[in-house]
Amino acid sequence: MIRKSLHWKLSLAFVLVTLITVALVSTAMRLTNPGRLTRLIIDQQRSDIPEKLAKYYVLQNSWQGVNEYWQVIRTTSLNPAQRADGSAPTPDAPFPPPDRIHRDLFGLADSQGNVIVPLEPDYPTGLTVPSDVLVKGIPVEANGVRVGTILVIPRPPQFTPEEDNFLQRTNQALLYTTLGAASIAVLVGILIARNLTRPLENLTRAAQKIAKGDLEQQVTVTSKDEIARLAEAFNCMSQEIARANLLRRQMTADIAHDLRTPLTVIAGYIESMQDGVLKPTPERLNLISTEIDRLLNLVSDLRTLSQADSGEISIHPQQIPPAMLLEHAAAPYRPRAEQMQIDLRIEAGENLPEIYVDEARMMQVFSNLMSNALRYTPEGGRITLGAAIADEKVAFTIQDTGCGIDPEDLPHIFERFYRTDSARQSENGEAGLGLAIARALVEAQGGTIRAESLPGQGSCFTIEFQTNEARRF
Ligand code: ADP
Repeated sequence: MIRKSLHWKLSLAFVLVTLITVALVSTAMRLTNPGRLTRLIIDQQRSDIPEKLAKYYVLQNSWQGVNEYWQVIRTTSLNPAQRADGSAPTPDAPFPPPDRIHRDLFGLADSQGNVIVPLEPDYPTGLTVPSDVLVKGIPVEANGVRVGTILVIPRPPQFTPEEDNFLQRTNQALLYTTLGAASIAVLVGILIARNLTRPLENLTRAAQKIAKGDLEQQVTVTSKDEIARLAEAFNCMSQEIARANLLRRQMTADIAHDLRTPLTVIAGYIESMQDGVLKPTPERLNLISTEIDRLLNLVSDLRTLSQADSGEISIHPQQIPPAMLLEHAAAPYRPRAEQMQIDLRIEAGENLPEIYVDEARMMQVFSNLMSNALRYTPEGGRITLGAAIADEKVAFTIQDTGCGIDPEDLPHIFERFYRTDSARQSENGEAGLGLAIARALVEAQGGTIRAESLPGQGSCFTIEFQTNEARRF
């Protein structure tokens, strides 16, 4: 089967709809025009015949002799000049020739429905007209009593040449108009189809390039319609794919680097000890052990993140007072803070509701945030652990008076292996996974985490949990 393009299908649909509409309109006009003309002729010629017949009946008190009177009114009713002033025809204003204008459109039935003025061939004299035909006729009433019915010709009459000509011209005009309209509709249809399909073709080409590995594709958005929204979404998606791909590559390189450094140190020591160049002193063995711990921590962090990705992080929540959580989080860091003359404070609001979290996991989160805060806060600085309630949420804050984070780094610090340039340069042995893990653990417990920072003044990390009843994991 041939695969027709959308452009082709849309154009065909426009052409079809136009042709069907034209065909329907033309047929309707062709069918109704002669009928309308007939109605017009009948209305014109009916004129005041019912009143005249009624007067005749009142004068005669019967229909006797109505056939002769009929001959008079059938012509006078056709002559407007005559009707206007009531005068008889003159050589200057004669009746129109009956064969040219007059057609026998009417007959007359008496009150019983018997034909008294025939309308050949449908209603011959003496025929008793069925009641459904009488209902369609024009009633003749004398002194409020129906004394007869004017029977109307049941089918279109013979048209005069002028009328035929009029019908023909109307049909011709109709044909030209519909042909003109159809051509414009087809043209507009084709243009619309092309306008609709061109951006789709661009999108298809860009998507095909992405499929082939050329990830950073952008299509131009010119309109504001649904296709433009699709194009915008496509551009965002393509950007995200390219970014994710870059991150993946960077992450692989970072993992390789972070594994390689301690392994090189360990391998170097062991080789030297095997060669007898270095003696396995307790200090050297301690160094090797530290590097192994570093490796184990890295592998454990990577495992936590991969569990978070697959939703397999085990959480064992319990009700805990927020202030107690902060006390537990601060305790291991007090000696170091004192050593660095850093003022480590806890500011927890009164009567805070308990929250339903996994204490061990929260300790992991606070530990990552606390070690960062201590690392980036200079001697004599201050770290404040806070807890407060706002908008039905308990908010924990870890605020330091350290170096702060540059605005361009701030949106990325929760990404895996993201380290600011200064952190990379100092080679502090951290892999850039601390905040990524903190976020994964907080989110796994239904909370949120965010950071605010003013370079040179300090940073503040906020973790929020809903207060209302216990959540299930
Ligand atoms: P790491 O585990 O290497 O510390 P994190 O994910 O914890 O990495 O932090 C990412 C980056 O965010 C760090 O390299 C550091 O530059 C920055 N950062 C985190 N916490 C702070 C803080 N309290 N003050 C200043 N910079 C911070």
